[in-house]
Amino acid sequence: MPTLYLYNSLTREKSAFEPLHPGHVGMYVCGPTVYNDVHLGNCRSFISFDVIFRTLRYLGYKVRYVRNITDVGHLLDDGEDRIAKGARLEQLEPMEVVQKYTNSFLEMMRIFNVSPPSIEPRATQHIIEQIEMVAAILENGYAYEINGSVYFDTVRFAREKGVYGQLSGRVIEDLLQETRDLKKQDEKRHPADFAIWMKAEPEHIMRWNSPWGEGFPGWHLECSAMSTKYLGHTFDIHGGGADLKFPHHENEIAQNYGACGCAPAKYWVHGNMLLLNGKKMSKSDGNTISPYELFSGESPFISRGYSPMTVRFFMLQAHYRSTLDITDEALQAADKGYRRLMEAWKNIQRLPAPAGKQESDLDREILGQLDLAVEELCDDFNTPKALARLFEVTPRINALHGGQIPPDQILPSTLVRLRETMSALLFDVFGLAEEDQGTASATVNALMDLILDLRGRARASKDWPTADRIRDGLKEAGIVVKDGPEGSSWSAS
Ligand code: ZN
Repeated sequence: MPTLYLYNSLTREKSAFEPLHPGHVGMYVCGPTVYNDVHLGNCRSFISFDVIFRTLRYLGYKVRYVRNITDVGHLLDDGEDRIAKGARLEQLEPMEVVQKYTNSFLEMMRIFNVSPPSIEPRATQHIIEQIEMVAAILENGYAYEINGSVYFDTVRFAREKGVYGQLSGRVIEDLLQETRDLKKQDEKRHPADFAIWMKAEPEHIMRWNSPWGEGFPGWHLECSAMSTKYLGHTFDIHGGGADLKFPHHENEIAQNYGACGCAPAKYWVHGNMLLLNGKKMSKSDGNTISPYELFSGESPFISRGYSPMTVRFFMLQAHYRSTLDITDEALQAADKGYRRLMEAWKNIQRLPAPAGKQESDLDREILGQLDLAVEELCDDFNTPKALARLFEVTPRINALHGGQIPPDQILPSTLVRLRETMSALLFDVFGLAEEDQGTASATVNALMDLILDLRGRARASKDWPTADRIRDGLKEAGIVVKDGPEGSSWSAS
C-alpha cells in the first residue's frame, strides 16, 4: 500500500501520516447538534469523514472513530440552549427533541450510506466527565469561578502556552475585539475567556448538580471530555467542518492543555463549505436546499430530483478541502458519471473470460490506472482525482464487454485485480451502492431472487402463461423485469 499523506490544518502542511500507535488510528469528529434536521452542508462534512474513515480501514488500519451527538450546551446568541429552544417551540421535552433529531440525523446518514462510527457518545451522558475536566482545569489554574459559573482563563493560557489561535490563525488582540456579547459577559475577566460551566438561571431547563451549583457544561467542553475518555489524552486525527476551527476547536485545544497538559490531536482535518449556485447557503436569504428537496426535486434550484447515491458521488467529485458548488448542471453531470461507473461495474461482472497469455499494453494500462487511483486517494484523500483514474479505465471495460477489444488482450490475473480494486474503491472506500437494488431491503432482494428463479423455471419449460403472469403481476407492483442473455434483472420503476 502506498504511504498516506495528510494535510494538517494545525501545521498547514501535508506530510506522511504517522499514527501514534502503529496500525491503529483514533479519530474524533464533531457530530451534529440535534435540534433540527441536519442540513446538506453537514451531510457533506460527515460524508467526507466517512470516506476518510473508510480509506483508513482500506489501508489496513484498525480505526476507532468517535463522532459525538451534541444534546446540551450549544447556546444561541441570546444565551438560550438550542435544544431547549427546540423543545419550547415544538412543545416537547428536551430529550424528545434530542431523540427526534438524532433519529432523523441517523436516518439521513443511512440514506447517504455513511457508515456508523465506532462510538457515538452524547454530551448529556458525559456530564460527570465534563465536571471532572472543569475541576482539573480549575486545579491547574487555567480557569476561575464566579457566581456558580466557571470560565476558562484564555489570557493566561495564551500567555503561558502560546498555542491559542494557532489553528484558526487568530491573535488574542483580535479576539478581544470580536468576542460577541454573550449573557453574563461582564462577569468574565476578559472578553476572550469562555464558559466551561454555566450557572443555570431559574428558567433554564437542562441543568445538573456540580461543585459550583446547578448548571450545565459549555458547548466546547463535551468534545474535550469525550475524546479524552474514548481516545486518550492525545489521539491521531480530530476533524470537523472548517466553521468549527474557531471558537470550538481552538477552545477544545485550550481545555485539553488546561486539564491534561497536552494537545488533544496530532492531526487536525477540516472539511470545506457547500455552496448553492456560487453563494453560501442561508435560510434567511432563501438560498438553501435540504437533502429531501434534493431527492424529490421540490426546489426552484433544480430541474428534477437526484438520488442519494448521485448526491454522494457529486460530493466525492470535489476534494474535501475545496468548496463545492451545487448547481443543477453539476448534479446532472454527476448523475451521468455515477451511472457510467455503475454500468462499468456491472460490465466487469459480465466480461467474457480473459484469454491473454502474456502481459499486454492493456494489462499495463489498467493496472497502472488502478494503482494511481489508490495513490490519489492516499494523497490527502483526493477523491476527485481517484475517480478520474477510474474513468480512464471504464472505456476499456466497456470495450472488453462489447467485444471491441478481444478477450485475449487481457490476462485473467488483471481481471481479478480489476474486480477486486473496483469493488474496494467503489463500495468500501467511496461508499457508493448500486441504487436500483441497493436501496431495496435484503428481504425484498431475497424475494425477488426467488420470484425470478421461479419465472426462469417457467420459461425454461416453455410455460409462457406463468412467466407472463409473474412479469405482469410485478409490473402492477411497480417492478420492471428485463430479460437478457445473462438472465433476468429487475428494477423498481
Ligand atoms: Zn466538537
